[in-house]
Amino acid sequence: MVQKFMVVGAGQMGSGIAQVAAQAGLQVVLNDIKEEFVQRGLGVITKNLTRDVQKGRKTQDEMDAILSRIQPSTSLEDAKDVDFVVEAAVENMEIKTKIFQQLDEIAPAHAILASNTSSLPITEVAAVTKRPEQVIGMHFMNPVPVMQLIEVIRGLATSDETYKIVADLSEKMGKTAVEVNDFPGFVSNRILLPMINEAIYCVYEGVATPESVDEVMKLGMNHPMGPLTLADFIGLDTCLSIMEILHEGLGDSKYRPCPLLRKYVKAGWLGRKSGRGFYNYQQ
Ligand code: NAD
Repeated sequence: MVQKFMVVGAGQMGSGIAQVAAQAGLQVVLNDIKEEFVQRGLGVITKNLTRDVQKGRKTQDEMDAILSRIQPSTSLEDAKDVDFVVEAAVENMEIKTKIFQQLDEIAPAHAILASNTSSLPITEVAAVTKRPEQVIGMHFMNPVPVMQLIEVIRGLATSDETYKIVADLSEKMGKTAVEVNDFPGFVSNRILLPMINEAIYCVYEGVATPESVDEVMKLGMNHPMGPLTLADFIGLDTCLSIMEILHEGLGDSKYRPCPLLRKYVKAGWLGRKSGRGFYNYQQ
């Protein structure tokens, strides 16, 4: 049974994952490379929980208990007595494989090593460990405390037992696990990103303005957010890198990234985080 749960990477996703794990009653180790990054992650969790208390969704005692279950860490050695690790460090294969090699050395033999990667191949990450049957993708959605889905990605060697433990853990966290196999973009990004890319083509070819493209998809298709607003939210550099993974991995020209997307990324127009993307956030 999973009791002690470690999260590697205390950024946007890692802090959310640590929060939902602590809310589910697990002992959580929240790790990052620097103390200040761990504290920033804890700050985000504290802010989320404070809002829950103010809105009457949790009591102060519940909030205190959740926070007391999260232990800060800046050393991967803290994986020595955990049952489960979710890696949510930056989306970079070299960094992720290095983390998995280290975790494989440190974590107990029974521990499951999961990655929150949104696009990198789980089978390849698993191959750097001596326990590929216990390596799996656990793709949480952003913002983690709010979104219902966990896309669970089985690598080539992932065992049924590992999948079952992850599915049960997802349920314990109040989420729904959906099983998919390891192919570029999995299911979520294989469908979402080509739609976003096509929306960018509509702007590139002068079919419509960004505002009109988003209105059509919101009012006509009942999407809560237009695809270009969503692209700005995800980050245009991230959108480009996922399209490149689809294009390279599946080898079909239908996944070619739109030249306008490349141009924006080259200009440093990365969406919300840079202040400018399809929309201007500087005002
Ligand atoms: P982020 O930049 O907010 O956080 C990444 C954190 O990892 C940073 O705090 C960084 O200091 C830390 N880190 C880097 N190298 C590390 C190492 N060697 N050991 C420990 N920590 C390290 O990024 P994020 O948006 O939280 O994304 C994290 C992962 O989640 C990525 O793989 C990303 O693809 C995936 N993901 C992101 C989203 C999203 O919407 N942002 C959604 C689903 C999945």
